[in-house]
Amino acid sequence: MSRIETLAVHAGGEPDEATGAVVPPIHLATTFRHGPAGERQAGYEYQRESNPTQDRLESALAALEDGAAALCFGSGMAAMAALLESLPAGSHVLIPTDCYTGLRALAGEFLRERGITASAVDMADLDAVQAALRPETSLVWAETPSNPQLRICDIAALAALAHGHGALLACDNTFATPVLQRPLALGADVVMHSTTKYFGGHSDVMGGALVFARRDELFGRVFHRRHVTGGILAPFSAWLILRGCRSLPARMAWHCANARALAEMLAAHPAVEAVHYPGLASHPGHAIAARQMRDGGGMLSFRLRGGREAALAVAGALELAINATSLGGPETLVEHRASIEGANAVSPDNLLRVSAGLEHRDDLLEDFTQALARLG
Ligand SMILES: *Cc1c(COP(=O)(O)O)cnc(C)c1O
Repeated sequence: MSRIETLAVHAGGEPDEATGAVVPPIHLATTFRHGPAGERQAGYEYQRESNPTQDRLESALAALEDGAAALCFGSGMAAMAALLESLPAGSHVLIPTDCYTGLRALAGEFLRERGITASAVDMADLDAVQAALRPETSLVWAETPSNPQLRICDIAALAALAHGHGALLACDNTFATPVLQRPLALGADVVMHSTTKYFGGHSDVMGGALVFARRDELFGRVFHRRHVTGGILAPFSAWLILRGCRSLPARMAWHCANARALAEMLAAHPAVEAVHYPGLASHPGHAIAARQMRDGGGMLSFRLRGGREAALAVAGALELAINATSLGGPETLVEHRASIEGANAVSPDNLLRVSAGLEHRDDLLEDFTQALARLG
C-alpha cells in the first residue's frame, strides 16, 4: 500500500474498534479517565498532550511524508515556531531570501529575542549557502517551491551541505505537498506543513504539522514543547484535515493542470513580463523541479510589464478569481503580495500570486484573458 493515492485514502483511517464506523470518530474529550495513581487506560491523559483524533492525523501525515513521526499544531506558524524555538540559544539558522513572510517575522523578531540568529540566502545558489554556513549554524530552512516567487532549491544537495556541516535541514513542503515532493526521502530531517492549505483543501480549517525523519531527541523536545506551551490542534480541525487527506492526490492533479494551463497562457501574453511556474521549461529551477517533484504544483505568480498599476488593475478586473490571501482551496485566489506585506514589502511591485483552484480550466483562462485585455 505504498502508492500515495492509496495511502491518502486509508492512512489513519482504520475503522473504529467500538462501532465499526468507517469514518473515524471525533474525540472532543479534554480529559481521559486514569487510575488512582495516574495509570493511563489507552495512553491518553489530557488533550493538550495528545488525543485520539490528532493521533490519527499524525499517523496519516507520517505515512504520507514517509517519516517516523508527526506532530500537529494549531497553525503552520505554530509548527514552524515550535521547531525553530526548540533550537539551542546561540544557534544560527539559514533561511531563504524568498520565503513565507511569517518565517521572516519569526526569525527577525522572536528568534532573535531567544538568542537565535538567522540570515537569508538564495537557497538555489549552493556556493552562497556554503559560504553562509557558520560554525554555530544548526539548521538550514528550505522552502521549495517558495512563496511567492516559486523559486526551486535542490533538497538533496542542501541536505548534503547541511549534514556535512552538522546542521539539520528542514523543508516547508506546503506548496508541493507529499503528493508532489517528499523531502525526507531526499535527505531532509524535518518537513513542515501549513495544513491550512492543500491538506485542509477547502479554505475552512487552520492547522500545521511537523513530520520527522526520526523519532529522536529533537522530536521529543518539540513534543514536550508543544505539551507545555499548548499549540495543539483542536480535534475537530484534526478531523477535517484528515478528511482532506482522502482527496489530496486527486485534488492536486486538478490544481496542477489548472496552474499549468494558466502559466502557459500567461507566458504567451504580451502584457506579461515573466511567469514563475516550476512546471514551465523556461523556469530556472525546472530541471531540479522535474527531478524532485512529480508535477509543477497549483501555485504560480506572474509579473506585469505595466508595473504595480497594471498588477492592481488585473487583480481588480478578475471576475471569477477572488482577491484573497492563502491558497490550496477549491476557489482560485489571486493576491498582490507587495500590498499584503505592507511597509517592508519584499515582493516585486508588479507581481500577482495565483492559487489555481478546482474550477474548469477554460473558465479560468477566460477570466484571466478578459482581465488582461482590459489593460488596453
Ligand atoms: C500559509 C503558509 C505558512 C503558515 O501557515 P499558517 O497555517 O497560515 O500559520 C507557512 N508556509 C507557507 C509556505 C505557507 O503558505
